[in-house]
Amino acid sequence: MGRGLGKGDVALTGTTFNVQRFSTEDGPGIRTTVFFKGCPLRCAWCHNPEGMSPQPELMWYDTRCIGAQDCLRACPAGALQLAPGDMQVDRGLCDACGLCVDACPAGALEVIGRSWTAEALLAEVEKDAVFYQTSGGGVTLSGGEPMMQAEFVAALCQLCHQAGLPVALDTCGIAPWVQYRALLPWLDLVLYDLKLWDGASHRVVTGVDNTAILDNARRISAAGMPMWIRTPVIPGHTDSAENIAALGAFIAAELPTVRRWDLLAYTNLGEPKYRRLDRPYALAGSPLLTRDQMEAMHAVAVGLVPSAVWSGATQQGEPG
Ligand code: SF4
Ligand code: SF4
Repeated sequence: MGRGLGKGDVALTGTTFNVQRFSTEDGPGIRTTVFFKGCPLRCAWCHNPEGMSPQPELMWYDTRCIGAQDCLRACPAGALQLAPGDMQVDRGLCDACGLCVDACPAGALEVIGRSWTAEALLAEVEKDAVFYQTSGGGVTLSGGEPMMQAEFVAALCQLCHQAGLPVALDTCGIAPWVQYRALLPWLDLVLYDLKLWDGASHRVVTGVDNTAILDNARRISAAGMPMWIRTPVIPGHTDSAENIAALGAFIAAELPTVRRWDLLAYTNLGEPKYRRLDRPYALAGSPLLTRDQMEAMHAVAVGLVPSAVWSGATQQGEPG
Protein backbone atom coordinates (compact mmCIF):
# COMPACT_ATOMS: atom_id res chain seq x y z
CA MET A 1 0.00 0.00 0.00
CA GLY A 2 1.24 3.48 -0.75
CA ARG A 3 0.17 7.08 -0.56
CA GLY A 4 0.45 9.26 -3.62
CA LEU A 5 0.56 13.00 -3.05
CA GLY A 6 -2.70 14.79 -3.79
CA LYS A 7 -3.80 18.41 -3.74
CA GLY A 8 -3.54 19.21 -0.05
CA ASP A 9 -4.83 15.71 0.56
CA VAL A 10 -3.33 12.28 0.45
CA ALA A 11 -4.61 9.59 -1.92
CA LEU A 12 -4.74 6.15 -0.38
CA THR A 13 -3.65 3.44 -2.80
CA GLY A 14 -3.56 -0.34 -2.69
CA THR A 15 -1.41 -2.83 -4.60
CA THR A 16 -2.85 -5.93 -6.25
CA PHE A 17 -1.32 -8.76 -8.23
CA ASN A 18 -4.51 -9.90 -9.94
CA VAL A 19 -8.16 -9.02 -10.31
CA GLN A 20 -9.97 -12.17 -11.39
CA ARG A 21 -13.44 -11.83 -12.84
CA PHE A 22 -16.02 -14.64 -12.97
CA SER A 23 -14.47 -16.50 -10.06
CA THR A 24 -16.62 -19.28 -8.61
CA GLU A 25 -14.32 -20.66 -5.89
CA ASP A 26 -13.94 -17.75 -3.50
CA GLY A 27 -17.39 -17.56 -1.97
CA PRO A 28 -20.98 -18.01 -3.20
CA GLY A 29 -22.11 -17.18 -6.73
CA ILE A 30 -20.14 -15.41 -9.41
CA ARG A 31 -17.47 -13.17 -7.94
CA THR A 32 -14.62 -10.85 -8.70
CA THR A 33 -11.61 -11.78 -6.60
CA VAL A 34 -9.09 -9.05 -5.85
CA PHE A 35 -5.67 -10.44 -4.95
CA PHE A 36 -3.71 -8.03 -2.76
CA LYS A 37 0.05 -8.08 -2.66
CA GLY A 38 1.91 -8.89 0.54
CA CYS A 39 1.55 -11.67 3.10
CA PRO A 40 3.10 -12.07 6.56
CA LEU A 41 3.07 -15.88 6.27
CA ARG A 42 5.45 -18.03 4.27
CA CYS A 43 3.50 -21.24 3.73
CA ALA A 44 5.75 -23.84 2.14
CA TRP A 45 2.95 -24.82 -0.29
CA CYS A 46 1.77 -21.31 -1.25
CA HIS A 47 0.62 -21.38 -4.87
CA ASN A 48 0.63 -17.59 -5.17
CA PRO A 49 4.27 -16.74 -4.37
CA GLU A 50 3.89 -13.52 -6.36
CA GLY A 51 1.54 -12.41 -3.57
CA MET A 52 4.05 -12.74 -0.75
CA SER A 53 6.09 -9.55 -1.17
CA PRO A 54 4.22 -6.27 -0.75
CA GLN A 55 6.42 -4.71 -3.44
CA PRO A 56 5.99 -5.00 -7.23
CA GLU A 57 8.27 -7.72 -8.67
CA LEU A 58 9.63 -8.67 -12.06
CA MET A 59 8.64 -12.06 -13.46
CA TRP A 60 10.29 -13.78 -16.43
CA TYR A 61 8.45 -16.38 -18.53
CA ASP A 62 10.97 -18.86 -19.91
CA THR A 63 8.52 -20.31 -22.42
CA ARG A 64 7.97 -16.93 -24.07
CA CYS A 65 11.59 -15.72 -24.13
CA ILE A 66 13.15 -15.63 -27.64
CA GLY A 67 16.56 -14.47 -26.41
CA ALA A 68 16.33 -11.06 -28.11
CA GLN A 69 18.16 -9.38 -25.20
CA ASP A 70 16.40 -6.02 -25.72
CA CYS A 71 15.59 -6.19 -22.01
CA LEU A 72 19.27 -6.27 -21.05
CA ARG A 73 19.96 -3.16 -23.09
CA ALA A 74 16.89 -1.37 -21.70
CA CYS A 75 17.68 -1.94 -18.03
CA PRO A 76 19.33 1.17 -16.54
CA ALA A 77 20.34 -0.76 -13.42
CA GLY A 78 22.14 -3.63 -15.16
CA ALA A 79 19.93 -6.01 -13.21
CA LEU A 80 19.48 -8.65 -15.92
CA GLN A 81 21.72 -11.46 -17.17
CA LEU A 82 20.54 -13.99 -19.72
CA ALA A 83 22.06 -17.43 -19.87
CA PRO A 84 20.61 -20.13 -22.14
CA GLY A 85 17.26 -21.04 -20.64
CA ASP A 86 17.70 -18.86 -17.60
CA MET A 87 17.23 -15.17 -16.84
CA GLN A 88 19.01 -13.96 -13.73
CA VAL A 89 17.39 -10.93 -12.12
CA ASP A 90 19.48 -9.17 -9.50
CA ARG A 91 16.59 -8.41 -7.17
CA GLY A 92 18.80 -6.06 -5.14
CA LEU A 93 19.24 -3.84 -8.20
CA CYS A 94 15.82 -4.22 -9.84
CA ASP A 95 13.28 -1.60 -8.78
CA ALA A 96 10.51 -3.00 -11.02
CA CYS A 97 10.57 0.11 -13.23
CA GLY A 98 9.17 -1.92 -16.15
CA LEU A 99 11.49 -0.58 -18.88
CA CYS A 100 12.57 -4.12 -19.78
CA VAL A 101 8.92 -5.17 -19.99
CA ASP A 102 8.26 -2.44 -22.55
CA ALA A 103 11.40 -3.37 -24.48
CA CYS A 104 10.74 -7.11 -24.76
CA PRO A 105 9.22 -7.98 -28.16
CA ALA A 106 7.99 -11.36 -26.91
CA GLY A 107 6.10 -10.35 -23.77
CA ALA A 108 8.41 -12.52 -21.68
CA LEU A 109 8.68 -10.10 -18.76
CA GLU A 110 6.00 -8.74 -16.49
CA VAL A 111 5.97 -6.48 -13.45
CA ILE A 112 3.59 -8.06 -10.93
CA GLY A 113 1.88 -5.42 -8.83
CA ARG A 114 -0.60 -2.73 -9.82
CA SER A 115 -1.51 0.34 -7.80
CA TRP A 116 -5.13 1.47 -7.46
CA THR A 117 -7.16 4.08 -5.65
CA ALA A 118 -10.17 2.62 -3.85
CA GLU A 119 -12.47 4.46 -6.27
CA ALA A 120 -10.73 2.99 -9.31
CA LEU A 121 -10.86 -0.51 -7.88
CA LEU A 122 -14.55 -0.09 -7.04
CA ALA A 123 -15.18 0.91 -10.66
CA GLU A 124 -13.36 -2.24 -11.79
CA VAL A 125 -15.33 -4.63 -9.58
CA GLU A 126 -18.62 -2.85 -10.31
CA LYS A 127 -18.37 -3.94 -13.96
CA ASP A 128 -19.83 -7.32 -13.00
CA ALA A 129 -22.47 -6.11 -10.53
CA VAL A 130 -25.26 -7.62 -12.63
CA PHE A 131 -23.65 -11.07 -12.33
CA TYR A 132 -23.34 -10.71 -8.57
CA GLN A 133 -27.04 -9.86 -8.33
CA THR A 134 -28.24 -12.74 -10.47
CA SER A 135 -25.96 -15.38 -8.93
CA GLY A 136 -25.81 -14.33 -5.27
CA GLY A 137 -22.14 -13.47 -5.73
CA GLY A 138 -20.04 -10.44 -4.95
CA VAL A 139 -16.49 -9.27 -4.42
CA THR A 140 -13.83 -11.30 -2.58
CA LEU A 141 -10.76 -9.58 -1.17
CA SER A 142 -7.92 -12.10 -1.17
CA GLY A 143 -4.17 -12.26 -1.61
CA GLY A 144 -1.51 -12.58 -0.37
CA GLU A 145 -3.13 -11.24 2.76
CA PRO A 146 -5.50 -8.31 2.19
CA MET A 147 -5.20 -7.22 5.84
CA MET A 148 -1.60 -6.20 5.17
CA GLN A 149 -3.27 -3.26 3.42
CA ALA A 150 -5.94 -2.86 6.08
CA GLU A 151 -6.52 0.87 5.68
CA PHE A 152 -7.04 0.57 1.93
CA VAL A 153 -9.16 -2.57 2.30
CA ALA A 154 -11.41 -0.78 4.82
CA ALA A 155 -11.89 2.11 2.39
CA LEU A 156 -12.68 -0.28 -0.47
CA CYS A 157 -15.10 -2.32 1.66
CA GLN A 158 -17.03 0.81 2.61
CA LEU A 159 -17.30 1.87 -1.03
CA CYS A 160 -18.50 -1.60 -2.05
CA HIS A 161 -21.00 -1.65 0.80
CA GLN A 162 -22.36 1.75 -0.19
CA ALA A 163 -22.64 0.53 -3.80
CA GLY A 164 -24.63 -2.52 -2.68
CA LEU A 165 -21.91 -5.04 -3.57
CA PRO A 166 -21.59 -7.98 -1.14
CA VAL A 167 -18.00 -8.36 0.11
CA ALA A 168 -16.14 -11.41 1.39
CA LEU A 169 -12.74 -11.17 3.07
CA ASP A 170 -10.36 -14.09 2.49
CA THR A 171 -7.79 -13.96 5.29
CA CYS A 172 -5.09 -16.06 6.94
CA GLY A 173 -6.25 -14.64 10.29
CA ILE A 174 -3.02 -13.11 11.54
CA ALA A 175 -3.93 -9.38 11.54
CA PRO A 176 -4.58 -7.55 14.82
CA TRP A 177 -8.12 -8.05 16.10
CA VAL A 178 -8.84 -4.31 16.06
CA GLN A 179 -8.39 -4.33 12.28
CA TYR A 180 -10.88 -7.16 11.82
CA ARG A 181 -13.32 -5.51 14.22
CA ALA A 182 -13.20 -2.27 12.24
CA LEU A 183 -13.92 -4.13 9.00
CA LEU A 184 -16.78 -6.39 10.11
CA PRO A 185 -19.60 -3.84 9.54
CA TRP A 186 -18.70 -3.71 5.84
CA LEU A 187 -18.40 -7.47 5.29
CA ASP A 188 -20.94 -10.16 4.39
CA LEU A 189 -18.70 -13.22 4.75
CA VAL A 190 -15.23 -14.15 5.99
CA LEU A 191 -13.26 -16.93 4.30
CA TYR A 192 -10.83 -18.02 6.99
CA ASP A 193 -7.77 -20.24 6.68
CA LEU A 194 -7.16 -22.85 9.36
CA LYS A 195 -4.16 -24.89 8.31
CA LEU A 196 -2.67 -26.69 11.28
CA TRP A 197 -3.84 -27.21 14.83
CA ASP A 198 -0.41 -27.81 16.33
CA GLY A 199 1.20 -24.43 17.00
CA ALA A 200 4.82 -25.58 16.72
CA SER A 201 4.20 -27.26 13.35
CA HIS A 202 2.29 -24.20 12.20
CA ARG A 203 5.30 -22.04 12.97
CA VAL A 204 7.66 -24.35 11.11
CA VAL A 205 5.72 -24.42 7.82
CA THR A 206 4.13 -20.94 7.78
CA GLY A 207 6.62 -18.89 9.81
CA VAL A 208 4.08 -17.85 12.48
CA ASP A 209 2.41 -19.33 15.53
CA ASN A 210 -1.34 -19.95 15.26
CA THR A 211 -2.47 -18.59 18.66
CA ALA A 212 -3.61 -15.22 17.27
CA ILE A 213 -5.20 -16.95 14.27
CA LEU A 214 -7.35 -19.15 16.51
CA ASP A 215 -8.25 -16.19 18.75
CA ASN A 216 -9.30 -14.04 15.80
CA ALA A 217 -11.45 -16.89 14.44
CA ARG A 218 -13.26 -17.13 17.79
CA ARG A 219 -13.84 -13.37 17.88
CA ILE A 220 -15.04 -13.06 14.30
CA SER A 221 -17.51 -15.87 14.87
CA ALA A 222 -18.60 -14.45 18.23
CA ALA A 223 -19.38 -11.19 16.41
CA GLY A 224 -21.95 -13.12 14.36
CA MET A 225 -20.08 -12.99 11.03
CA PRO A 226 -20.81 -15.91 8.65
CA MET A 227 -17.59 -17.83 7.95
CA TRP A 228 -16.28 -20.37 5.48
CA ILE A 229 -13.23 -22.18 6.83
CA ARG A 230 -10.58 -23.27 4.36
CA THR A 231 -7.97 -25.91 5.07
CA PRO A 232 -5.30 -26.71 2.49
CA VAL A 233 -4.62 -30.46 2.62
CA ILE A 234 -0.88 -30.65 2.04
CA PRO A 235 1.01 -33.96 1.85
CA GLY A 236 3.31 -34.38 4.82
CA HIS A 237 2.14 -31.16 6.51
CA THR A 238 -1.62 -30.86 7.13
CA ASP A 239 -2.95 -34.17 5.83
CA SER A 240 -3.04 -36.21 9.02
CA ALA A 241 -6.36 -37.43 10.42
CA GLU A 242 -5.27 -35.98 13.77
CA ASN A 243 -4.89 -32.50 12.33
CA ILE A 244 -8.23 -32.59 10.52
CA ALA A 245 -9.94 -33.97 13.64
CA ALA A 246 -8.45 -31.28 15.89
CA LEU A 247 -9.45 -28.48 13.52
CA GLY A 248 -12.92 -30.01 13.14
CA ALA A 249 -13.39 -30.21 16.90
CA PHE A 250 -12.38 -26.55 17.21
CA ILE A 251 -14.79 -25.45 14.47
CA ALA A 252 -17.66 -27.48 15.91
CA ALA A 253 -17.13 -26.27 19.47
CA GLU A 254 -16.06 -22.66 19.03
CA LEU A 255 -17.11 -21.26 15.67
CA PRO A 256 -20.93 -21.29 15.58
CA THR A 257 -21.22 -19.10 12.47
CA VAL A 258 -19.30 -21.46 10.16
CA ARG A 259 -21.47 -22.23 7.13
CA ARG A 260 -18.98 -24.39 5.27
CA TRP A 261 -15.59 -26.05 5.73
CA ASP A 262 -13.53 -26.49 2.57
CA LEU A 263 -10.77 -29.07 2.41
CA LEU A 264 -8.64 -27.95 -0.51
CA ALA A 265 -6.43 -30.60 -2.07
CA TYR A 266 -2.78 -29.65 -2.57
CA THR A 267 -2.05 -28.12 -5.96
CA ASN A 268 1.41 -27.85 -7.52
CA LEU A 269 0.25 -25.25 -10.06
CA GLY A 270 2.30 -22.59 -8.27
CA GLU A 271 5.62 -24.35 -8.83
CA PRO A 272 6.51 -22.62 -12.16
CA LYS A 273 5.96 -19.23 -10.52
CA TYR A 274 8.74 -19.93 -8.03
CA ARG A 275 11.12 -20.44 -10.94
CA ARG A 276 9.95 -17.20 -12.54
CA LEU A 277 10.68 -15.35 -9.29
CA ASP A 278 14.04 -17.13 -8.69
CA ARG A 279 12.79 -18.68 -5.48
CA PRO A 280 13.16 -22.24 -4.21
CA TYR A 281 9.98 -24.34 -3.98
CA ALA A 282 9.99 -26.39 -0.79
CA LEU A 283 7.50 -28.97 -2.09
CA ALA A 284 9.23 -29.63 -5.42
CA GLY A 285 8.33 -33.11 -6.63
CA SER A 286 5.52 -33.64 -4.10
CA PRO A 287 2.78 -35.71 -5.77
CA LEU A 288 -0.86 -34.72 -5.65
CA LEU A 289 -2.96 -36.53 -3.08
CA THR A 290 -5.12 -39.42 -4.18
CA ARG A 291 -8.87 -39.31 -4.25
CA ASP A 292 -8.93 -41.96 -1.51
CA GLN A 293 -6.74 -39.79 0.72
CA MET A 294 -9.01 -36.77 0.24
CA GLU A 295 -12.12 -38.84 0.88
CA ALA A 296 -10.55 -40.20 4.06
CA MET A 297 -9.81 -36.63 5.24
CA HIS A 298 -13.33 -35.60 4.33
CA ALA A 299 -14.83 -38.49 6.27
CA VAL A 300 -13.04 -37.29 9.39
CA ALA A 301 -14.08 -33.68 8.77
CA VAL A 302 -17.73 -34.27 7.97
CA GLY A 303 -18.15 -36.39 11.10
CA LEU A 304 -17.41 -33.26 13.13
CA VAL A 305 -18.61 -30.45 10.83
CA PRO A 306 -21.48 -31.58 8.55
CA SER A 307 -20.87 -28.70 6.13
CA ALA A 308 -17.38 -29.98 5.24
CA VAL A 309 -16.69 -30.44 1.52
CA TRP A 310 -13.54 -31.16 -0.44
CA SER A 311 -12.31 -30.05 -3.83
CA GLY A 312 -9.24 -29.88 -6.02
CA ALA A 313 -7.26 -32.07 -8.38
CA THR A 314 -6.08 -35.50 -7.25
CA GLN A 315 -3.94 -38.19 -8.79
CA GLN A 316 -7.08 -39.86 -10.11
CA GLY A 317 -8.65 -36.66 -11.43
CA GLU A 318 -11.19 -34.13 -10.26
CA PRO A 319 -13.86 -34.89 -7.67
CA GLY A 320 -17.26 -35.56 -9.18
S1 SF4 B 1 12.17 -3.82 -14.14
FE1 SF4 B 1 13.61 -2.07 -14.52
S2 SF4 B 1 15.29 -2.37 -13.04
FE2 SF4 B 1 14.14 -4.31 -13.13
S3 SF4 B 1 15.25 -5.54 -14.63
FE3 SF4 B 1 13.59 -4.48 -15.75
S4 SF4 B 1 14.51 -2.57 -16.51
FE4 SF4 B 1 15.90 -3.40 -14.94
S1 SF4 C 1 -1.25 -17.37 3.92
FE1 SF4 C 1 -1.85 -17.82 1.81
S2 SF4 C 1 -0.90 -16.20 0.56
FE2 SF4 C 1 0.13 -16.20 2.57
S3 SF4 C 1 1.91 -17.51 2.28
FE3 SF4 C 1 0.25 -18.80 3.10
S4 SF4 C 1 -0.74 -19.71 1.30
FE4 SF4 C 1 0.50 -17.94 0.57
